[in-house]
Parts: sequence; C-alpha cells; structure tokens
Amino acid sequence: MHIIGPAPTGRATCRGCGLKIPAKDLRLGERAPNTYADDGSETTYWYHLACGAFRRPEPFLEALASTAAEVEDRVRLEHEARLGVAHHRVPRANVAEFAPSGRATCRSCRTPIEKGAWRISLLFYEDGRFTPAGFVHLTCVDAYFETRAIVERVRHFSTDLAPADLSLFEQALAAVPSAPPATSDAST
Ligand SMILES: [Zn+2]
Ligand SMILES: [Zn+2]
Repeated sequence: MHIIGPAPTGRATCRGCGLKIPAKDLRLGERAPNTYADDGSETTYWYHLACGAFRRPEPFLEALASTAAEVEDRVRLEHEARLGVAHHRVPRANVAEFAPSGRATCRSCRTPIEKGAWRISLLFYEDGRFTPAGFVHLTCVDAYFETRAIVERVRHFSTDLAPADLSLFEQALAAVPSAPPATSDAST
C-alpha cells in the first residue's frame, strides 16, 4: 500500500530528484518488491510529493486517494499525475537544457540535435531507479509525449536553469507550430 504522510525526520532522500526530504514535509512512500532480496520482502521508495506526482503518477494517485493528510496543491498535483497516466511517456520528461554539442540524436525523430538548441532530457524508470534515456527536440515534444503539457514538470526539475532561461524555454515551446492534423484521405 503506497502512502502519503509527513516525514518523521529529514534523513530520507527523494528518488525523483536526489535531494533530502525535509522533516514534517509530506512525502510519497511507494511500496515495491525488494529487488535485492529473494524472500518476497518489500521496500519503500520515498519522494517529495511533487516529485512523486510527476515521476510516479500511479502510486501517487493511489496514495492520494487514501491519505488523511491535508495536501496543499492537491488539485495541481493530481492533474499533473493524471497527465502522466494518460500519456505514458510524460513521466520521462526531466529537464530542459541547451545541447552542449551536436552529438545527441533525438529519441523521437532520430536526427541529431544541433549544438545550442533546446532539448528535453528523458529518464526511464525501472525498479526504483531512474536512468538517463536520451533527449528529444523541442519540436518533437508533441510527437513524443503526445501532449505539450510538460512545462510544469520540466520547470520543477530544471533547477539548474536561471528563471530567465526557463521563460525562454517556455516561449520557445509555445512557438513550436502544432503538428498538422492527420489526413484521413489515404489517396493523397
Ligand atoms: Zn524530489
Ligand atoms: Zn526530434
């Protein structure tokens, strides 16, 4: 059973962002099989509430439905978690950054991401771990995530970006033309 409750101490580290969870802050505890033991035991992965909503939407929503805790931001976090359930690649969205070289290939269109262009980094989740899983062009956000509603989570995790750069990123994403509607006429 996944839980949302206050952290008794400030010692736990958030799986989602790697930072400590302050004492008394609400946190998500995701129960999962202990992959380091063969005895069927379980372990708990801890997350800041927002990190859990963004990165582990299913356990987050399950815990939210049963918690007695007063969750500040409940409507926003529930909305973000539901986006992650509706579009299964959305929880992979990590940070926005300028490509430091032209060597990475976009995971969506398979062409290189040019140096200095915006890119979104991706993380894959498996067994309580997040592994770097490449990048997508800003222009490939619609195709890859099936939605452009990734701004809140990218803003949350892009702690290395200055606020001015974050606004530039949001403007650049908003300026990407929407994909043309798919034609239903197979003869053209
Ligand atoms: Zn976190
Ligand atoms: Zn691309």
